[in-house]
Amino acid sequence: MRCTVLSDGYFSYPAAWFFPNAEPGELAAALESRRLSHDSIVSPYTCLLIETGRHVVLVDTGAGPGLTTGGAIGARLEMCGIRPRDVDTVVLTHAHPDHIGGAVDERGRPAFPNARYVISEAECEFWNGPRPALRDTRLPGEVKAAMLETARRCLQTLRHQLESIDGESGIVPGVRAIPAYGHTPGHLAVLLASEGEQLLNLGDAAAHPLHLEHPDWHNGFDHAAARAVLTRRCLLDRATREGMHVMAFHFPFPSMGRVSPRDGGWQWSPGW
Ligand SMILES: [Zn+2]
Repeated sequence: MRCTVLSDGYFSYPAAWFFPNAEPGELAAALESRRLSHDSIVSPYTCLLIETGRHVVLVDTGAGPGLTTGGAIGARLEMCGIRPRDVDTVVLTHAHPDHIGGAVDERGRPAFPNARYVISEAECEFWNGPRPALRDTRLPGEVKAAMLETARRCLQTLRHQLESIDGESGIVPGVRAIPAYGHTPGHLAVLLASEGEQLLNLGDAAAHPLHLEHPDWHNGFDHAAARAVLTRRCLLDRATREGMHVMAFHFPFPSMGRVSPRDGGWQWSPGW
């Protein structure tokens, strides 16, 4: 199995959106110690290409057309010699715009014409439901409205190629989707196993390495923050116990590393 991390781009978010319940002094000290801005968080968008020999799988699709600092996934795949029609499986960890936006091209058609798009049933039901409740996300109203519009538009466009799954499911040999609810009602993590090694793609179960050091710090984009914290702890416990490589969509590129327990949380060590 060959895995390649692909940068779709990035976006700068107000720091308060990323850590809404962090004690301000503690957050300031944590950012200061890393020489990070107190105002904005530059957040990478990192997709994962998996080539198994029989399958070409893409985990998350980036922001798609319309974001000036993102939407590069097509160009990145081309650099790897992969054409859109070669991708046979797309796994959507969830339907937030930075993950599903690239699943639809600028002409409003599925960006990967031959792919099955795997997503959890709970995620589809939530966004397609009559009144998706975004009340627990700690974001401005216009951001919530844009999230809803993008999710609904993309899911509608992809409807003939969607494959919704329920519970832990094999996607292709060596690639499994794991329920990781909390960030969204149907958020998935993705677990890869090949030749005795495992890689756990957390999706957005943690959006910044500070969410590992302070696992109880929420992410303003979490739909159910308390559940998201439990999910995060559960995934990181498992990654630690089983010595997995870990990837997270929004971590500093190449968004790949290891985790080890420290002070009640986890330390992030970038690299393979
Ligand atoms: Zn995200």
